[in-house]
Amino acid sequence: MRRLRNVKIVATLGPASEDYDMIRALYEAGADVFRLNMSHGTHDEIREKHRIIRQIEKELDSPIAILADLQGPKLRVGVFANEEEELADGATFRFDLDDVPGDATRVQLPHPEIFAALSKGAHLLVNDGKIRLRVTDCGPEFATCEVIAGGTISNRKGVNVPDVVLPLAALSDKDRDDLEFVCGLGVDWLALSFVQRAEDVEEARALVQGRAAVLSKIEKPSAVDGFEAILAASDGIMVARGDLGVELPVQNVPPIQKRLVRRCRAAAKPVIVATQMLESMISSPMPTRAEVSDVATAIYEGADAIMLSAESAAGDYPVEAVTTMNNVAVEVESDPTYTQIIEAQRTANRTSVADAIVAAAREIAETTEIKAICCFTESGTTALLTARERPRVPIIALTSLRGTARRLALTWGTNCVITSEVTRFKMAVVSAARAARAQGYAEPEDQIVVTAGLPFNVPGTTNILRVAPCDERLIYNTDPE
Ligand code: PGA
Ligand code: MN
Repeated sequence: MRRLRNVKIVATLGPASEDYDMIRALYEAGADVFRLNMSHGTHDEIREKHRIIRQIEKELDSPIAILADLQGPKLRVGVFANEEEELADGATFRFDLDDVPGDATRVQLPHPEIFAALSKGAHLLVNDGKIRLRVTDCGPEFATCEVIAGGTISNRKGVNVPDVVLPLAALSDKDRDDLEFVCGLGVDWLALSFVQRAEDVEEARALVQGRAAVLSKIEKPSAVDGFEAILAASDGIMVARGDLGVELPVQNVPPIQKRLVRRCRAAAKPVIVATQMLESMISSPMPTRAEVSDVATAIYEGADAIMLSAESAAGDYPVEAVTTMNNVAVEVESDPTYTQIIEAQRTANRTSVADAIVAAAREIAETTEIKAICCFTESGTTALLTARERPRVPIIALTSLRGTARRLALTWGTNCVITSEVTRFKMAVVSAARAARAQGYAEPEDQIVVTAGLPFNVPGTTNILRVAPCDERLIYNTDPE
């Protein structure tokens, strides 16, 4: 389905968006990627959503990416005898390993490794950072804390420990189980939560065994510090502002977002900006001006994708939220200032023949009347390099691999078309011209740029650039076999 914008939209599915009609409405409103959050829902529920997405993909004949998001080593307290308790400022509160239901003085924190890593003065944050505690005393099985900022603590609330690199395995037993399950179903992207170091990504990748691309969520201070190595080990990145804004002062998040988005683009790896983008739309059909501005900022920065979490998963207005993102994107991308910012950030980081060819394709397309850049890509790399150039004309990625087409649904400005395997040059140019016309980007009298690699179907061989007519008869008459 043709979109009138380059930035992609990721919609998280949940109770508010689990049936066919709603998922299809989200797709039609503009969602390009669906996120299945493994923190919620049973395997049967995930399987059903997956089935519906694949059915819609088939009906509309347009590749859709599915991103499965593993919960990761998320820490949670146990339960309370009265479901919840009020913690007053200045009070003393204790975390321990005892599974007896908690009260106003203590609760279970079933993670011995945390107690081992804690020391006096460290901070514990509960319930998205709303409650803050400081450790005054600790041992291998407990931590006694002073409540710095009080509030209501209730069953199984999340705990963040920002000051300490935790000796936690990258993947919990649940994550390993979920990973096998979603890889078995067939997902395109696997997101890893609370990545702390590049080794966490490598560990997950070894289990994934090429069945999905691996995306690291940056939501720990240690991941920000070690970002370059994590980026190198990952296929994509999420700026996970929800937990990041808990673990670090919130005012640190915007500069980190800007830096990460730029670094990802330079590395030609897709980056998602996530969380609270249209938070008020969980319960209102209209966003706040500040939210619209936040979505616009991510697009001006050149993010590949913007994401909806609870807005589409559990809110009252999922379709309106996608429509809002779509409308903001169309408006921002038609602003000359957007083009200026995007083009000013183009990197001169070119080291290969493919880099030079995609840059030339962009240059030609922008100098003359070219309607689209059509690139043949097997691994997806040439499409990623083309997208990094952020050309002014649409990118059409042609591939014989369904998995590549689906993964590229997350990448800025990339429209994917699945072709049968191309073995001859003339055939390649003809199918590119057909795709450009079929997608509504070009008429027979128009011209396109085609990039490809000879020999065909060998990854990493991009070495041809052809300015071609869109009229097949002309191609048949002029092009070599
Ligand atoms: P989550 O991750 O929605 O899985 O918590 C995103 C974030 O923390 O921003
Ligand atoms: Mn998170």
